[in-house]
Amino acid sequence: MNSIWKMLKTGKAWQGEIRNTFLNKAIRWENTHISPVKSAPGEVTHYVILQEDVTQKRKQRDQLEHMALHDALTDLPNRTLFNDRLKQAILNAKRGQEPLAVMLLDLNNFKEINDSMGHGVGDQILTEIAKRLLGIMRGGDTVARMGGDEFLILLPKANPQKQSQFMDRFNAILEKPFTIEKQTFEIKASVGLALFPDDGDDPEALLKRADVAMYAAKQSAETYKRYDSSLDKDSFDRLELSHSLRTAVEDDQLVLHYQPLINLITGELDSVEALVRWKHPYRGIIYPDSFIPLAEQTYNIGIVSRWVIKRTIQQLRDWHKRGLKISVSVNISAHDLTDTSLSEFISAELETVELSPSFMTLEVTESALMQHTADTLDNLARLRQIGVKINIDDFGTGFSSLQYLTKFPVTGLKIDKSFVMTMVSDESDTIIVRSTIDLAHNMGLKVVAEGIEDAAAYQALKELGCDYGQGYLLSKPITADALFLWQAEWQKTNAPEKI
Ligand code: C2E
Ligand code: MG
Ligand code: MG
Repeated sequence: MNSIWKMLKTGKAWQGEIRNTFLNKAIRWENTHISPVKSAPGEVTHYVILQEDVTQKRKQRDQLEHMALHDALTDLPNRTLFNDRLKQAILNAKRGQEPLAVMLLDLNNFKEINDSMGHGVGDQILTEIAKRLLGIMRGGDTVARMGGDEFLILLPKANPQKQSQFMDRFNAILEKPFTIEKQTFEIKASVGLALFPDDGDDPEALLKRADVAMYAAKQSAETYKRYDSSLDKDSFDRLELSHSLRTAVEDDQLVLHYQPLINLITGELDSVEALVRWKHPYRGIIYPDSFIPLAEQTYNIGIVSRWVIKRTIQQLRDWHKRGLKISVSVNISAHDLTDTSLSEFISAELETVELSPSFMTLEVTESALMQHTADTLDNLARLRQIGVKINIDDFGTGFSSLQYLTKFPVTGLKIDKSFVMTMVSDESDTIIVRSTIDLAHNMGLKVVAEGIEDAAAYQALKELGCDYGQGYLLSKPITADALFLWQAEWQKTNAPEKI
């Protein structure tokens, strides 16, 4: 008030918001404009005061500010507010020469609960976790929600004793099961820790390193891991790739190569397998073994699979138009089998180009089938219903039992290359290959052998009655154009005799 009076006394007007507390303790914010009125000699004789009640406006503004800085579900600070506090805490820590800890916490089995129990239950668990975390914070600590099932914790003045006390309290809150809608859930988490100043001296570095440590904790099945530089390499790749994978599909950085499958009885080209590669702008070609598992972990596999399916079908139409009436195989992941609209998607894509589903085979790895749920079975049945074939890929590497095999609506088996590559030199592999072929035939399934690298294996497989063969001996995976040239050559030279 004093400063207002000082200003007014100089004869100038004042404007600002004043907080008015009434006798009944009600509070009102008033936007106030005070102008002095002067007499002829220039003396201030009156004041004209204009007031507007802005209590409501102010409330709305505060609410908007709160919303911008807090997570809507748990009301915890969000990433933006956490970053502000972290910045401030780093300044204080620098001044006071004190350590500071940043922890990134990620729930381990949350996705499964969310998928199987629904988002309502998932949301309640997150809210409960937020409440429990808040309960173990001490003055000056911050807990924030990053989004999804990730939380951030900031512990200023974090000496080792404070950290270990925190971890004790933290372990205790997870030990207590979560009961939601009369169901009990056990939740586990992985926590990555990064310390200022040892592991980084700006917010970005600390957060990145906490993430590196959290991922290492997740991989090691330990709850808690402190960052150290040996963890970097792996996680750099992972972080960077998972971020850029999202744009890779949109930016058309994925390419397909095709590898021929030969009918071992007639020697003719039967079909091709589409194999995806990632042409990374500065890392060069990345092979699927390096990014498909990552796409699966980060739930990006669905967009990759759909891209591969769409592109392969377009390519198939092109070949058919040019007189090359072959079939195609596409690899799909375990996660794709939970996508209930996959069959509709494939049907629609095939319809667009007016191709019969019988030209298409989906390859599902044996291990993906072994993780099946009731939904997976329904989905497989739906895919069979639309008329595409389903082959079990990498057969022999998982632990499938015969009982399972009869349960799945599959049309063929693909013997894993690890057996085929060594079948000529290793008798036990020959036995595995032979019995797989017999088993498949007894069950009415077709057999493909992948990884044929030499003529002796080709010959042996032919004699064992294997239906189709694929491998470097015949051709490596090549571009669509190269494949067209390859098949012309294959036909011309009556290729089976070549082998
Ligand atoms: P896969 O489906 O078992 O594919 C066969 C892999 O073996 C291919 O590796 C192929 O290049 C390689 N190969 C073929 N013949 C030979 C041979 O004679 N000798 C040797 N040493 N290798 C041979 P690639 O292209 O690196 O693919 C690896 C795996 O990545 C595939 O194994 C498949 O599981 C996965 N993959 C590839 N494309 C896709 C895709 O579009 N979607 C999904 N979900 N997975 C894919
Ligand atoms: Mg395959
Ligand atoms: Mg395979």
